[in-house]
Amino acid sequence: MLLIKGGRVIDPGTGRDETGHLVIEGGKVREFLTGGPPEGFSGKIIHAEGKWVVPGLIDMHVHLRDPGFEWKEDIRTGTMAAAAGGFTSVVCMANTKPANDHPEITRYILEKARGEGSCNVFPVAALSRNLDGKEMTDFCELFEAGAVAFSDDGKPVENPLLMRRALEYARPFGFLILVHSEDHQLAEEGAANEGWTAQKLGIPGIPAAAEDVAIARDILLARQTGGRVHLQHISTRMGVDLLRMAKRAGLNVTGETAPHYFTLTDAALEGYDTNAKMNPPLRGEDDRMAILEGIIDGTIDAVASDHAPHEEYVKRCEFTAAANGIIGLQTSLPLTLGLLAGGKVSPARIVDLLSCAPARILSLAGKGTLSPGADADVTVIDPEEEWEHRADDVLSKSKNSPFFGWKFQGRAVVTLCGGRVRYAAQTGVVADV
Ligand SMILES: [Zn+2]
Repeated sequence: MLLIKGGRVIDPGTGRDETGHLVIEGGKVREFLTGGPPEGFSGKIIHAEGKWVVPGLIDMHVHLRDPGFEWKEDIRTGTMAAAAGGFTSVVCMANTKPANDHPEITRYILEKARGEGSCNVFPVAALSRNLDGKEMTDFCELFEAGAVAFSDDGKPVENPLLMRRALEYARPFGFLILVHSEDHQLAEEGAANEGWTAQKLGIPGIPAAAEDVAIARDILLARQTGGRVHLQHISTRMGVDLLRMAKRAGLNVTGETAPHYFTLTDAALEGYDTNAKMNPPLRGEDDRMAILEGIIDGTIDAVASDHAPHEEYVKRCEFTAAANGIIGLQTSLPLTLGLLAGGKVSPARIVDLLSCAPARILSLAGKGTLSPGADADVTVIDPEEEWEHRADDVLSKSKNSPFFGWKFQGRAVVTLCGGRVRYAAQTGVVADV
């Protein structure tokens, strides 16, 4: 048995926000208790006084790079970084090599995660074979092997007919399609948000419309087919507006953003920092405000890191040639906790964005809740601790982050998966009785 003692238990699924003890047994949540710890308790105790105790965080957009790019990241190091960032589950994208377009690859990921992983791994399978946007994969076979959704993320599905067919195939099974919204023709060879900063720095721009047109198309196809669409890494004002409209129309459309889109703007490109280069690109201040509004009013369902590890070689080069993306597993929670400062986002909303909503969207049974019988995936968060992020803290193989030297308030101190401690920030937090 394990007791998480005296923490503020925040569980939006059951509406609980109350100080007490959480009892864990057999890898499951047994009960929530107030008052004294249970009589005659013996086992491990996690001291959570002054901390938040929340359903294990779920990052629904991660690139683990395994198989095929293990020098950037692998399942062992990616899940270590996840656990250190407070995540008990990660959802990994299919743009590996080979791509996760075959049940053998899905099974490889799951087996390696079971053997070497520090948290749960839920694979997303490719929507098209080899992510080439031509021939659809066999969704049912991939689902049987353990895929939780389908996506060509990293690339858009350029052919609208293929997207239509994918949504039609997915619909009767309730399968979810995750979409990377980008019109390649409109994006051209752009490397930064089209606007003043890109112009000043002489970097070719990507207009917001390259994202917005793609979002609009897939919302219309969700309407046409009744299929379920989840918009990945929304970065524009119009993207948020379109999602809001789709929800008002009762369509099966959800959306996520990444912490960098509500934290940074393209001003971060000054000095040609390639760690500010991602796809979609960092946008302007008006877009950043719109993302915040979308989080506050509930239009945006989830926050996901889009953890995209890259070795130094492909980042330390000329801006337009540099690879897209940043790591994010260890900064996603602290950056999202930063939303508390504005006073418009509650602790419960943060837990919903980072745990409950991903579990709901992906239908992950037993996740995103602390109700009795749920999996004992629990994150203990110290909301007060002030700390500075250093490259030495990073457990990923790659260190491409624009957030080194940043001062944060709040971080995960214990991460528990299936009742097992997979990360503890300090010794002494977990004790035997
Ligand atoms: Zn993407």
